[in-house]
Amino acid sequence: MPGEQPPPGKYIKLNTNENPYPPSPAVGRAIQSVVERGLQRYPDPLANPFRCRASQILHVPEDWIVCGNGSDDILTIVTRAFVGEGDLLRLPYPSYILYKTLGDIQGAKSQAVHFQKDWTLANDFCADAERLRLVFLPNPNSPSGTVLTPDQILEIAKQLPCPILIDEAYADFANLNCIDLVTRDERIMVSRSFSKSYALAGLRFGYLVAQPQIVQKLVAVKDSYNCDALSIAAATAAIDDQAWLVENSRLITLTRAQVLTQLRELGFKCPDSQANFVWAVHPRANHREIYEALKARQILVRYMQYPDWGDGLRISVGTPEQMAVFFDSLRKLV
Ligand SMILES: *Cc1c(COP(=O)(O)O)cnc(C)c1O
Repeated sequence: MPGEQPPPGKYIKLNTNENPYPPSPAVGRAIQSVVERGLQRYPDPLANPFRCRASQILHVPEDWIVCGNGSDDILTIVTRAFVGEGDLLRLPYPSYILYKTLGDIQGAKSQAVHFQKDWTLANDFCADAERLRLVFLPNPNSPSGTVLTPDQILEIAKQLPCPILIDEAYADFANLNCIDLVTRDERIMVSRSFSKSYALAGLRFGYLVAQPQIVQKLVAVKDSYNCDALSIAAATAAIDDQAWLVENSRLITLTRAQVLTQLRELGFKCPDSQANFVWAVHPRANHREIYEALKARQILVRYMQYPDWGDGLRISVGTPEQMAVFFDSLRKLV
């Protein structure tokens, strides 16, 4: 189930990892000019204007990129392309909840491999298994915000008998990513989202980078017009404004460091985060009660409870002002 989306204005929203800042001003202008040109024509089915600009910025050829209606659409396309009835998909645990749902829809089984205490993955994550067709790996992971290094991921990919999707929804907040690995192994795919680092969750745009023979396979199963003319123009303008991206992620990562320090001062255990959220577990406090008490004060964080694993709070990094209000309330609760 996705995080709560209350009517705008009422809450300080720290529950779904949206960006607290408005997007690049170039985005609004791009949408405006599409509206002025008119919307009577179908959009480019491959979102080529975006692929062209992204190709220059990411240093990969255009035909290595496939676009989607949010990166959730990319995850759906990948699952449909590789996983059928009775097949097996593997995911780390705890991680993004949607992966299992996508497997269920295909009539596939999913195998959750638990992270170790230090948020790395043991060798059983790479083990062969009957009908194993696809592995998902979010990096940075949610809810932990932790990362595996590209070297660790390449090692995992080499041992696996099937493709692996590295879900980089949060990679723009991290100091590493796996785009370069795509050239090393055709079974490595990397997906990205515009919802978090580009502050465009309401727009719905994401993309995937993989070798062209894989991209062709994915294009064959996607809806013909899965990205609309407004989102293609907006995402193209957004990725074109790399100065905005760099400055925004600088702000968020600065605030993230302060949030981690303050949470640890209050006794929370938090792994170092490379995303725009932090994972907080308190050895004594009741997480659900903290979540409820914050909600009563118009502050929404995400209470996460994972069967066979445990619970905690996932807190998105807001503006410094929002985090000051959050800590004023939190201090009274622990
Ligand atoms: C938010 C998120 C997504 C979905 O991104 P959209 O582009 O909004 O669909 C995918 N994967 C992870 C791990 C996420 O946290």
